[in-house]
Amino acid sequence: MKYNFSAGPAMLPAPVLAKAQQELINWRGLGISVMEISHRDPVYVQMTEEAEQDLRDLMAIPDNYTVLFMHGGGRGQFSAVPQNIASADATVDYLDSGIWSQFAIREAQKYVEQVNVVARVTETAAGKAIPDFSDWQLSPNAAYLHYCPNETVDGIALRQIPQVSVPIVADMSSVILAEPLDVSKFGIIYAGAQKNIGPSGFAVVIIRNDLLEKTQQERVCTVMNYKVQAADKSMYNTPNTFAWYLAGEVFKWIKAEGGVEAMADLNHRKASLLYECVDNSNFYRNTVAVAYRSIMNVPFQLRDDALDAEFLRQAQAEGLMSLKGHRFVGGMRASMYNAMPYEGAQALVDFMTRFAKQYS
Ligand SMILES: *Cc1c(COP(=O)(O)O)cnc(C)c1O
Repeated sequence: MKYNFSAGPAMLPAPVLAKAQQELINWRGLGISVMEISHRDPVYVQMTEEAEQDLRDLMAIPDNYTVLFMHGGGRGQFSAVPQNIASADATVDYLDSGIWSQFAIREAQKYVEQVNVVARVTETAAGKAIPDFSDWQLSPNAAYLHYCPNETVDGIALRQIPQVSVPIVADMSSVILAEPLDVSKFGIIYAGAQKNIGPSGFAVVIIRNDLLEKTQQERVCTVMNYKVQAADKSMYNTPNTFAWYLAGEVFKWIKAEGGVEAMADLNHRKASLLYECVDNSNFYRNTVAVAYRSIMNVPFQLRDDALDAEFLRQAQAEGLMSLKGHRFVGGMRASMYNAMPYEGAQALVDFMTRFAKQYS
């Protein structure tokens, strides 16, 4: 048995992969694969409509929001957002809660004159934390506030939705569909697909219609233009048809499993199990304050990093894959998206407990 803790592209639900394999060369009785059919074919179009409806059902997306399926993953949206909904002389607010926020900020600086960082992660006695909203330096007339509710590399999460009067844009690449969410609090939600939705190179964008109407027409590259993509039902140019199909299958799987509530329950149980193991040992540590810990991506360090290589070697030999931390931060990281069963978290904790005993 293999358990894949990769941060992304990440594990996909086993039943989805089995179904995709089974229908790969004969999709919906057509005698050809889903990759070989026109995206304008009514059978394919129907599949995209089902995918959108399933996502709307899962996230309870209100009617005044448009759902787009786009190219370019998460980073594609780092440039699409400022180009679409801010003018070149605008001010935009960004929270810097970690590495992905910083990449988004750098990209926005290319398109917008003033990128104001409202707050940064601080070291507190309890560990790394995000300052309270009351301490954020908000701009009086920002076009939007951007933040990343779940920092995939740092394992830092902001669980409360910021209380601001401007539209909120959220990079939910590593946390979409992990928990129930009040979509109506957001202007734009976007997510690269390869963590909790499907294959890489693909993204979901959920945008409130009044913002969609404000999309700047002149300066956005057309495949990244929200208004054009909305008018063309995300088919301005040929979409990533296979990724869209697989995303649709993942949505159906989540529904069959009991929806986002069931995912949240599973995700909290997996995360608690692992954090408990880390916190109860003198061998491992996590440096994020408890209130800001991610339930999806759990970074942890061995107190003696000379043992890192041996830890990874033994984990790999036991079928626990991709536990090496991001190259920027080192240590270990276990990503446990929706597709990771509870047994995977249990197997990891069992291994960590044994390893700690062996080397203590
Ligand atoms: C993975 C990730 C991205 C980047 O996604 P790409 O598809 O590689 O562009 C952006 N933001 C977050 C939060 C991520 O986890």
